[in-house]
Amino acid sequence: MTQSVHCEIAVIGAGVVGVATALWLRRQGYRVLLLEREAIAAGASYGNAGTLAPYGVMPIAQPSLLKAIPSLLFSKESPFVINWARLPRLMPWLLRFLNECRASRCEANTLALMNILQHTYSGYAPLLADCPQADQHVRHNGCLYAYGTEQGFAGAQAAIALRRSLGIAQQVLNAADVEQLEPALAGQAVAGILFPESSHMDDPRAFIEALAAPLVADGTLHQATITAVQRQPNGLQLLSAEGQVYRADRAVVCGGAWSAALARQVGDRIPLDTERGYHIEFDLEDTLLNRPCCPVESAFYMTPMAGRLRVAGTVELGSINDPANPQRFDYLERHVRRVMGLTTPVARRWLGFRPSLPDSLPVIGPSPNEPRLIYAFGHQHLGLTLAGATGQLVAQCIAGKAPSWLDSFSVQRF
Ligand SMILES: Cc1cc2nc3c(=O)[nH]c(=O)nc-3n(C[C@H](O)[C@H](O)[C@H](O)COP(=O)(O)OP(=O)(O)OC[C@H]3O[C@@H](n4cnc5c(N)ncnc54)[C@H](O)[C@@H]3O)c2cc1C
Repeated sequence: MTQSVHCEIAVIGAGVVGVATALWLRRQGYRVLLLEREAIAAGASYGNAGTLAPYGVMPIAQPSLLKAIPSLLFSKESPFVINWARLPRLMPWLLRFLNECRASRCEANTLALMNILQHTYSGYAPLLADCPQADQHVRHNGCLYAYGTEQGFAGAQAAIALRRSLGIAQQVLNAADVEQLEPALAGQAVAGILFPESSHMDDPRAFIEALAAPLVADGTLHQATITAVQRQPNGLQLLSAEGQVYRADRAVVCGGAWSAALARQVGDRIPLDTERGYHIEFDLEDTLLNRPCCPVESAFYMTPMAGRLRVAGTVELGSINDPANPQRFDYLERHVRRVMGLTTPVARRWLGFRPSLPDSLPVIGPSPNEPRLIYAFGHQHLGLTLAGATGQLVAQCIAGKAPSWLDSFSVQRF
């Protein structure tokens, strides 16, 4: 019989959230195991747009979206699509999402996001100070929203005013300013917004692998697919599909879009679903852009990465088990060729699963049914941005020093 492995804290999932959490817990002196079924950054953390977006306070669920939903869902040129065959299964999540579009809910969710986004850089700082190899993948050059139409820019005014009221750094630009910052966008924008305090990764996976290198080197990382979480008088027992038993005083679920099944093990039913997102990449010696640029009406980012331009974004509501939808790749390709005039062939295509709750907030904090099980998942469009802050918050939770505003991220809100 296999001997069980013991640790103080088991972290399940080695995406960017799990890696940052394991590092924060080690810094606090805990004996940690990081349990991952595939590889570091195998999930959403691999293929995202690479931005650190502390300006991202606008929840996806907003009052303005309610009006736009019919045209978004039924237009062939929409960045937001739904797999209608999955509608019955998606309905509970969608109804909650629609409820979160109410102005009062949107305001509360914005403030909650603001609270955590303020810790974007301070959450990463100690981890990066320990790891210059990861830090060298971070570029501090801001992020640019480019509006292709006056109508699009007019629609952005409420968000600009909100960010201003919250003190978020943003510079409103005219067409000439946009062109000066990004000559490759000449003639494509009537206006823009520069977020000067945003950064990006030149290779998200290389960044996360560099952060995780000490966890690999000292055997903290184990290959394990956790299938069961069992409550024992003296801790938790985790069973893996590989036949291993892990005993831990506590465990942290960082399984991204796959986390709900683990939470169900202790009786928590969490309305976690996925916003499927896509990327395509072009291999380019000159990546053409100086910073991530979002042609706002098309709703994707074009991010300059090492030796390539990554075009990432769009939202597709469907199932985590469905194959990639070729029309989504076509959408990205058509629009990026229009905006950038690219003729280079697409080098790679990727589908990934954003872990999303209906209110656009992650779940961070202990299970109400089993306080030794702590949740840290559901970071939707902001997981790369919020991973450092999340790791720090989990460490604070375990030390009994969580800030009071963390209550808005509790699973008990559902
Ligand atoms: C197209 C796209 C663009 C994006 N752009 C940005 C961006 O620019 N900026 C930003 O901040 N965010 C962005 N995001 C969101 C971000 O990528 C995610 O929020 C983030 O990666 C989530 O990280 P995670 O660690 O929670 O999940 P994941 O990266 O999905 O990791 C979860 C890990 O858990 C493992 N796992 C799951 N279940 C088990 C189990 N039972 N046992 C063991 N292991 C398990 C999985 O194998 C996986 O490795 C984007 C996402 C997409 C799809």
